[in-house]
Amino acid sequence: MPPLPPTYLSSSDVCCQRVMGTERAYPPQRMRSGYGNKRFYTCEETIAIDRSAATGTAGIVVVTVRLEEAAFSAKRMRIRHVCVSCSVQIALQVLCTSPENEDPTGVYEIRTMADSLIARVKKVYDDVGALQIESVSVENTLEALANAKLDYASSRHVLDFPQYVFPNKEVRSASTEADKKLSEFDVEISMREDVFKRIIALQKRFPDNPASEEKRFLDRLVTLGQRKGLHLSKEIQQEVKRTSKLISELSIEFNRNLNEDNTFLVFSEHELGGLADSYLNGLEKTAEGKYKVTLEYPNYYPLMKRCHNPETRRKMETAFHSRCKEVNTAILEQLIQHRAKVANLLGYSSHANYVLEINMAKHASNVSDFIDAFYERLKPIGIKERKYILALKKRECLMKGFQFDGQINAWDLPYYMNQVEQCKFAVNKDKLIEYFPLEVVTEGLFGIYQELLGLAFEEVECAHVWHEDVKLYSARDTVTGEEIGQFYLDLHPREGKYGHAACFGLLPGCKGPDGKRRLPVAVMVANFTRPRKGWPSLLQHHEVETYFHEFGHVMHELCSKTTFSEFSGTLVETDFVEVPSQMLENWVWEKEPLRRMSGHYKDGTPVPDDLLDKLIASRVANTGLMNLRQVVLSKVDQYLHSCPSADTAEVFAQHCQDILGVPATPGTNMTASFSHLAGGYDGQYYSYLWSEVYSMDIFFSRFKKEGIMNPKVGKEYRRVILEAGGSVDGMDMLKRFLGREPHQDAFFQCKGLTTAQETKMA
Ligand SMILES: [Zn+2]
Repeated sequence: MPPLPPTYLSSSDVCCQRVMGTERAYPPQRMRSGYGNKRFYTCEETIAIDRSAATGTAGIVVVTVRLEEAAFSAKRMRIRHVCVSCSVQIALQVLCTSPENEDPTGVYEIRTMADSLIARVKKVYDDVGALQIESVSVENTLEALANAKLDYASSRHVLDFPQYVFPNKEVRSASTEADKKLSEFDVEISMREDVFKRIIALQKRFPDNPASEEKRFLDRLVTLGQRKGLHLSKEIQQEVKRTSKLISELSIEFNRNLNEDNTFLVFSEHELGGLADSYLNGLEKTAEGKYKVTLEYPNYYPLMKRCHNPETRRKMETAFHSRCKEVNTAILEQLIQHRAKVANLLGYSSHANYVLEINMAKHASNVSDFIDAFYERLKPIGIKERKYILALKKRECLMKGFQFDGQINAWDLPYYMNQVEQCKFAVNKDKLIEYFPLEVVTEGLFGIYQELLGLAFEEVECAHVWHEDVKLYSARDTVTGEEIGQFYLDLHPREGKYGHAACFGLLPGCKGPDGKRRLPVAVMVANFTRPRKGWPSLLQHHEVETYFHEFGHVMHELCSKTTFSEFSGTLVETDFVEVPSQMLENWVWEKEPLRRMSGHYKDGTPVPDDLLDKLIASRVANTGLMNLRQVVLSKVDQYLHSCPSADTAEVFAQHCQDILGVPATPGTNMTASFSHLAGGYDGQYYSYLWSEVYSMDIFFSRFKKEGIMNPKVGKEYRRVILEAGGSVDGMDMLKRFLGREPHQDAFFQCKGLTTAQETKMA
């Protein structure tokens, strides 16, 4: 899951789109699943499994038949690369096409497939749980569980993914329901004491080879069992189970409320003063000729940065941070209490410490040391930046006759931060955007990734997709010619679609029961402005960065070559998961890659040199405030998950004022739409700063030094970091790739907080 936009609470220039995204969550909102869980079988296998699990129920037979039909029509339609994601495609076809019956939407299929999946996996757990303790073996326990996890990982996301993207509301609801049911099942199987006892027994006699992925998998199963309290009393286990289910349900509800929010505000042209024609042309109009502005990112952020009218910005800011305020504040505050309770039952001092145990950070004190050190370094820069902004505001108030209130409000911050960029760096964004048509960016981005990682992408024709905007691609290794995986791109907003940018893993890249590698499939979802008459889809530079970032997650998924699905792709420590993607963001701040990704939409001419220079120089604009805001969010998250209960609005307002020096807008509660807190990032928002430190180290110490388009380094990166997934500790991968312990200097250098001479950079 990507961080919240780095310019203040809402307004960003750097990555507005990337709010949700890739993550490893366990139960609830699983963009990229947690410990295991997702993948789909090839069509033959699916059919076989559905048959074996069918036990004669009419429903499953129907699904089986439909899958067969789908497989047949897939062949007829000449879908290439049928072997890989044909299963996903077929499942999607089943869900996308409308067989003329009472269930035209795939709702029924989602339900029955979820039930049959649960039945299959449960059977394996029952079998393992029934084994005599003395008869447990690698085959009947470890492999059986690994295969069940693979099955589960492969099917789960085909069922829970439609809730984010499908055009049909009933399908989305069915998918959310399935997600809920599967999340309950997640909790149930994670609490299997009988299975846990067999795993412990196996661990006792397992050869102690820390380098083996098998051993790592076994140890992981033990750790996960202990984290559920399976070594504790029955009563505690029951309570943990009950509360965890509740947490899971509440988390799903929290995010569903946000996804379904369709608030819009209406403004006159006068009230939208300062916004470009291209922006206004993209807005819907009311019958009275006024403009409808939604709270979706492409509407919200440009307005917050450009609109001259402070009252319009205040209304937008208030609405944005009041999204789902009543309902989600209540949910979040319940979540905090339930999480604290579970942590306490399991013997942890706080939920934060419970969560951090399996991260690189390990303990809340390490996180606070890390954030505090950051804060100290950033504080003086923040003060300087605020002073400058206040002076800008005073001058503008004088010029325009607005009353000057002597403070920076939340709705001022993005606006004046944008002006700082304009004054200090003078990046003409209206001009710049013309050089980033989506097609050109895609071609350049593909070219860079392909060259760097030694891959070749090709569009799959006639692919089954959930919407006409969506495209499917196949990726091959350029040396072996072998297909390594497939990915979908779903890049434009539409009603009911997930409102942020994210990468969703559909199938993991790991070994199957036959020893052959399963081909992974991932989806990149974004909300880039849709092309319309006379206007191609043009990207802001920060959107190009978002694109690069999310695509980095896609590559992490696709390059994965692990033995177990449990460790595939982005299933790494949460505070490491963003490292690969953040590292790749650096390419959109370098001249050569930028040239490759741009060309004027009218005639393809390159971005003028001076504009490019200014853009690159602007990377350090507002560094203090942007990073302080990340400090606020990280600290709020840590605070909320270090206490038994909290008044979320109050905690946020306090931190915002103290650290950022800007009051939260009265009556709002930003945390009610802080989806990370219900999306698997609870207690872990600090991960963005944490992993950015390491990503900078990788970039500056290897790529910048040895050549940013150096395929040798790129391939080593693919092998050491991307292929390994979570089968190696993040820290060990870093050390291997860097050839030393990682350090922070590159981060501060990049942020303009230190000079190259002062650092120990080689
Ligand atoms: Zn990300």
